[in-house]
Amino acid sequence: MAKRTLRPGCCGFLAAIAVCVVGGLVFAYAIFNKHNAAVPSGTDTGGTSRPVSSAVSKALAPASEMKTGGLLMLINAQSPLPSDYTPALSTVDKSYYLSSDKDNHFDARAAPYLSQMIHDARADGVQLVIVSGYRSMAYQTDNFDRKVSQYRAQGYGPSTASSKAATLVAPPGTSEHESGLATDIVSSDWYKKNTDLTAAFDQTEAFAWMEKHAADYGFILRYPKGKTNITGIEYEPWHWRYVGKENALKMTGAGLCLEEYDGKA
Ligand code: ZN
Repeated sequence: MAKRTLRPGCCGFLAAIAVCVVGGLVFAYAIFNKHNAAVPSGTDTGGTSRPVSSAVSKALAPASEMKTGGLLMLINAQSPLPSDYTPALSTVDKSYYLSSDKDNHFDARAAPYLSQMIHDARADGVQLVIVSGYRSMAYQTDNFDRKVSQYRAQGYGPSTASSKAATLVAPPGTSEHESGLATDIVSSDWYKKNTDLTAAFDQTEAFAWMEKHAADYGFILRYPKGKTNITGIEYEPWHWRYVGKENALKMTGAGLCLEEYDGKA
């Protein structure tokens, strides 16, 4: 298979640890049952079941969702976030994170759904943990600059040092984590044994749970297997992106990644 230059989506493999340290508007109107139509209640998953909107049509999502700040915005090396991008954030329970020193902010539109998803998985006996959620642009900049400095110290020129750093750490503005809409999720037992994020995570019960249910909470597997030539990012079975439930169900059902759904499908 031809080698490609891949950029880190959220975390490279071996570099993952270094890189990956780290009410919604709809929230109030309904309480959905947890798997078939999950909408966070903020408390528990009981309550009235409500059918998934029959408006899951073939129409493409509104263009407004694809703009900066929209739930479908593309964030990558070609489409970086503006340097002044500041999402409205809310918090996710610290107990849902791998460690309590993680930044527990998340985009306010998505945070309740992330919380509910982790809650429901745990209720099913699947101990999901968030390895990394929101990362501020300042944090990402520090990470990137530190890596550039390491290469500079090894004698590389500014441009080469920067390029080499970019193969390990997403340059500022190009990581989805900076939007507060992306999260790395594994299971606590798996992480204890592996201490790194690797594709082998997809062999776990935890991944199977996510694959089956994540779209109900509005999340898609952002860098799926077999889509690397489109996303430019290696397969990452731990990196999930919030796009809203309707979009997530459509994309997952049709096997489309965000780039394909973004007006090109
Ligand atoms: Zn990630």
